[in-house]
Amino acid sequence: MIKLLRCIAFWFVVAASPLQAADYLELTDFQLIDGSGGPARPVKSLLIRDGVIVAIDESGTRPTPEADARWTRIGLAGAWVIPGLVDTHVHLSRFPDPRRGDRILSSALRGGVTSVRDLAGDVRALGEMERALVTGELSGPTLVYSALFGGPAIFRGGPTADMAPGHAPGEAPWARRIDAKTDLRQAVAEARGTGARIIKVYGDLTPPLATALIREARQQGLMTAAHATVFPAAPGDLVDAGVGSLSHAPYLVWEAVDSVPADYGQRIRGPWGAIAPDHPRLLALYRRMAERGVFLDATLYVYKAMKDYAPGQMDTSWTEAAFAWGAAAVRHARAAGVRVTTGTDWFEPRDEGDLPHTHEELALLVEHAGFTPAQALVAATRNGAAALALDDRGMLTVGKLADLIVLEADPLADIHNTRQIRFTLKRGVMTKLR
Ligand SMILES: [Zn+2]
Repeated sequence: MIKLLRCIAFWFVVAASPLQAADYLELTDFQLIDGSGGPARPVKSLLIRDGVIVAIDESGTRPTPEADARWTRIGLAGAWVIPGLVDTHVHLSRFPDPRRGDRILSSALRGGVTSVRDLAGDVRALGEMERALVTGELSGPTLVYSALFGGPAIFRGGPTADMAPGHAPGEAPWARRIDAKTDLRQAVAEARGTGARIIKVYGDLTPPLATALIREARQQGLMTAAHATVFPAAPGDLVDAGVGSLSHAPYLVWEAVDSVPADYGQRIRGPWGAIAPDHPRLLALYRRMAERGVFLDATLYVYKAMKDYAPGQMDTSWTEAAFAWGAAAVRHARAAGVRVTTGTDWFEPRDEGDLPHTHEELALLVEHAGFTPAQALVAATRNGAAALALDDRGMLTVGKLADLIVLEADPLADIHNTRQIRFTLKRGVMTKLR
């Protein structure tokens, strides 16, 4: 009874608190690039109410503001407005300094990245970041994160070893070693219970096991993202199983190999010199990916830049060939209708004041994979949001969230102009670069 009274008292307090006054933000006189891939168009007024776009010139409805509404108008003459960028491949929890992730998030948002997909980390840290982002204690992009599944080999050392301090390798619900005997229904349910929205299918998995895992994840309403080859399961196996997204374009090469090795370590020894990115088996793969709506998280940036990551500390002799092949593969995949997204796998700049590397990924798509600037922007906005199942953003149309970037220069004329940021809005709230 006392419990019930307490409950009633609680709800009374909530109901009696005054409603917050509506917040209107009107952006006027700019060029709009809405994420559809079309040209820029002049807009006189874009109206945002409580973080949602309610009118753009004649489309939508212009509400009569409440008497106590707050109305802010910002003139943007000479500016371009694009949707916020989505980075579909980040890792936010692997830093020795646990607060580094928080700082990276806030600088990423100032740098125009409004949503990110974390593809493997310590879910306990990621969940805390996500909570702080939602409550506003932390400023940063929307965070969608994953639980990583793979065979025994991937839990012997390597980056997976430090994903779950306190747990035996491969035995945390978000860093799970599986084999043919695993109760996948239980393992996926436990992963889901961590708050992860994605199962990352990582390595050392046979085609039947990878297929069973992807099907179980889908069955339980989770998204799936796989490395393009998970050794020995090949890209085509993953596409046929219904995977949502494939990461790392260079690893698509194994589709044209008769027998994919079981050793996950072979990923850095792809036959990039021997197999053309338009090999008939690859062209068939791109067509199937397009038909089945599988996203390609190309991650060109990491192959371009890996040699600078920890110079002398790891073998990066293979990355140049991987990059060139991967860029050509992305060009063919896009031509076949595959939706490409902009993941970097390394989006945090060394200097926290610099822009996220996501901008580099856009430029690489244009300079090395034959994208027009408009196509690169679609990859970074509409496609990225769709890959994360964030249907309420990715384009700047009536009804979508006001996640957007105001630029000083035209990114369709030069893709590097995505760096000319005046400010970013996240749900209509402004963050300034400096
Ligand atoms: Zn990664």
